[in-house]
Parts: sequence; C-alpha cells; structure tokens
Amino acid sequence: METYPIPMVPGPVRVPPEVLAALQVDYGSGDLEREFLDLYNQVEANLQQLCATRNRIVVQTGEGMLALWGALKSTLRPGERVLALATGVFGYGIAEMARAIGAEVKIIGLPYDATLNNWEEIEAAIHEFKPKMITAVHCETPSGTLNPLAEVGRLKAKYGVPLLYVDAVSSIGGTPVEVDAWGIDLALGGSQKVLSAPPMMAFVAVSEAAWEIIEQVDYVGYDALKPFRHAQTRFEFPYTPNWHGVASLKVASDLLLQEGLANVFARHEQVAAYCRQRLQALGLRLLPRPEAIPSPTVTAVYVPEGIAWPDLDARFRQHGLVVGGSYGPLAGKVFRLGHMGSQADMRLVTQALDVIEHVVRAL
Ligand code: PLP
Repeated sequence: METYPIPMVPGPVRVPPEVLAALQVDYGSGDLEREFLDLYNQVEANLQQLCATRNRIVVQTGEGMLALWGALKSTLRPGERVLALATGVFGYGIAEMARAIGAEVKIIGLPYDATLNNWEEIEAAIHEFKPKMITAVHCETPSGTLNPLAEVGRLKAKYGVPLLYVDAVSSIGGTPVEVDAWGIDLALGGSQKVLSAPPMMAFVAVSEAAWEIIEQVDYVGYDALKPFRHAQTRFEFPYTPNWHGVASLKVASDLLLQEGLANVFARHEQVAAYCRQRLQALGLRLLPRPEAIPSPTVTAVYVPEGIAWPDLDARFRQHGLVVGGSYGPLAGKVFRLGHMGSQADMRLVTQALDVIEHVVRAL
C-alpha cells in the first residue's frame, strides 16, 4: 500500500501511536468481565465530557452508519413522523433512511453550501407537521459546513417534540457539541474522525426520553440500542465486548481531555482559519457560502477550473499529500482537507497548504 506523508483525508484520520498501541491489549488474565466493564465505564465518562452530557452513552462495534441506522430503527415505528433538516449529503441521506424504515418524512432542505438559518420555516413545519423526531447533522463533512443546533433544540423544547436526533460524527471532540443544553436525545459519534481512533467504533448518547421510546419500540437487530440499556449494570453485552476498540477509544478520548477541551477546540478553530485564509489567498473558492458557518474540522474547496479532480488528486499525491474528494452532487467538484483530531496540526496543515499552493500555482 502506498503511504502519503501528509494525510488530510477527513476520516479515517491518522491514528496516533499511543492509540495504535492501545490495540495491543492483553486480556489473557484476571477478571475479564470486571476489567472490561471498568474500561467501558471510563470510556463512557470520557465521551460524556466530549458531548457535555450526563446521558448514558452506548458504545457499539461498527461504523458511524451502524449507529445512524440503529438509533433510527430503535426509536421509530412505520408511519411515525420525522422532520429532517437537511443541508448536505448526510442530512438528505438520513431522511432517506427514515423513509426506508417506513417513517413519514418531511424534509426542510437547503443547498449544500448553506447552513440552517431558515428558522421561521422550520418552526412552522414543527408546528404543522408535529413530528415525533427532528433529525439534523451537526457537521456536514462532504461540504465542510456546521449547523447551529442550539436553535433547533430551542424549537424542539418549545413544541415538545419527543426526539432530537443529531449526527455529530465529524464534530464531537473538535468543536462544542452541547448534548444536554441543546436537548439532543440521540447524539451520534464515530471513532475515526476527531477522536483519531481506528474506524470500528460508534457511539450514541441516549437521553432518558429516548430510552423510554426505545423500550416501547422494542426493535430487535444487531444495531439495536435496547440491549445496551442495562449492559453495564447487569453485564449483559449483546455481543462479545470489543476490547480493542473500546481500549483505543479510551486512549483517544484521554488524549483530548488531557489537552483540555477548550484547547482542543481552539486548536481546531486556529487550524481551520489558517487553512481558509491561505486557500482564499490562492484564489480558490471555498464552501460554504459567506453567511453560512464553515466547520472547524474540515474545509471543502471547489476544484479549480481547467483541471479535473482525478488529475488534481494525482498531482497532490505526487507531492505526498492525500486529501478527500466529496460525495453526491459534490463529487468531482469539491475536494476536502480534514483537519480534525490528530490532523488539526499546524505543521501538517502548513505542509498540505504548501503542496496545494505549489500545485495550484503551476496550473
Ligand atoms: N455522518 C457523517 C457526518 C460522516 O461524515 C460520516 C462519515 O464520513 C458518517 C456519518 C458515517 O460514518 P461511517 O463512515 O463511520 O459509517
């Protein structure tokens, strides 16, 4: 496999050596179940800090999509109403997922370079449609945008919507995700983004209101949340505990907390601002549109005119830089720098921008 010294893909991100080392756990001795439970509880406490919540956190083996599906299936019955706030690939995708499981879905959509600001329209839709669940995406990774969710939480509380579901896969740990303050009932995260652990773990912060609904819906499946409700107290994990994955999450979350969350957030802001400033100075056009909010964890850039994305990608790779392409309608039109977690590093980002500058100037 070819390796590139300047990794800037927006997930999976470079795994730090300490986190990789955590995969070499030796669980061949002692009281396995007790030790695993201790580890799981510590990870839960760490993730609670990253999500600013007291809610229980379910850590599942699988990718972010597993948790995204599992949380929907665990809380929705066919015919129930979902209001999907969509500003990008994942926002529209979640609406389709809810439809696939039989929900009645209304989409309030904006273009991919926008972030939620149509509050009157959203409020009217909540009032008229009376959804059981509102879905939203915090950071739309494919377009590098961040949605302001405090206002969604306020509207949810005002109209007594039972559930707020938030995909925060590419923001948790890199920017504040205020689960309790914003009233998020299902906050979804993944290991391979800001946490910079291998891509095998997903997690969901589940509110008490959501647990009640999970009990009623009683969904059965590999991705179901219900079996985790009493997993810690009764030690009844629904499948073999993933010791390696949980151990890697422990070290990854420890690293962020040791640095101090305020410092981690400031590091992401600083790197993102630097990135945007240098790319704009090169004459490149960035997402999102000016009045919208760019994400501190990923920057999306339009491929300059006169060059096709595969050719641009090949030129970056010749200089050791690997960035991300994009998806859906943005595929081939946008490339992305993932400056999250271990890659929110001024030295690394400077190297990446030097390569981009060199390649773009040569065009
Ligand atoms: N949600 C967002 C916002 C993402 O960026 C991603 C992955 O890129 C996912 C969900 C899905 O996560 P996974 O690739 O781990 O299934």
